[in-house]
Amino acid sequence: MSCPKYRVPKDLREKLAKEKTKLAEFFRSINLVSERVIKAFLRVPREEFVRPEYVRYAYVDSPLPLFEDATISAPSMCLLFCEYANLREGMEVFEVGTGSGYQAALIAELVCNKTKKYERKPVCTMEISPRLYEFGKDNLERLCYSRFVDVRLGDATLGWPEKDRKFDVIIVTAAGAKIPPPWIRQLKVGGILLMPLEVGSDWQVLIKVQKISKSNEIKIEHLEPVRFVYLKGKYGVF
Ligand code: SAH
Repeated sequence: MSCPKYRVPKDLREKLAKEKTKLAEFFRSINLVSERVIKAFLRVPREEFVRPEYVRYAYVDSPLPLFEDATISAPSMCLLFCEYANLREGMEVFEVGTGSGYQAALIAELVCNKTKKYERKPVCTMEISPRLYEFGKDNLERLCYSRFVDVRLGDATLGWPEKDRKFDVIIVTAAGAKIPPPWIRQLKVGGILLMPLEVGSDWQVLIKVQKISKSNEIKIEHLEPVRFVYLKGKYGVF
């Protein structure tokens, strides 16, 4: 497939580009994230990852419905994930919950070198819903991210299927009630897991978990209150 293959017509894309610049300026004015993350935001066309009926809201800082109960998170939330993870070129990242593929595209912008040929794709993302898997995979293909992003269908609470693979960062975009053990095993020592944790009825907090030893010891930090759909699967909420 030739790419990028835009769905949004050129005139609308140009109009949205102005809104995107404004939103980036706003993020800069409140010092939300570092400039590297803002630049990544400017490179990824969020309008191509939302459902066609929501294209005009692509640069409103709000989550938008995808399919089933899933949502594409607000741009600020996606950028904060990148910032908290301190994503750098050369890192290997596992994202749980592909959804639209937008977060995976942002991650790829920060950890991949576009001129490099990768034998093993640095960004791995997994989706449990077949419908969302198809949607996210198609978006990532159309926008040329498939060279860097490995998309799989399945229960990501069981970990990435290649069990010996270890990641610098795991970003979870659905809320769980506990930390699935396979994720800690698949983190490198010093690696970081960012995950929304359900800590009471209707109350979630984003946690940053660092693996501090080979024997899977961890250190947990609470970052901020958040709102995400529930994690499914073996170690999920349902
Ligand atoms: N990161 C996405 C947003 C995803 S919303 C984006 O950028 O658009 C959360 C997603 O997690 C949903 O698509 C949901 O189906 C998926 N999910 C929930 N439990 C899962 C599991 N156990 N394994 C993989 N995906 C899961």
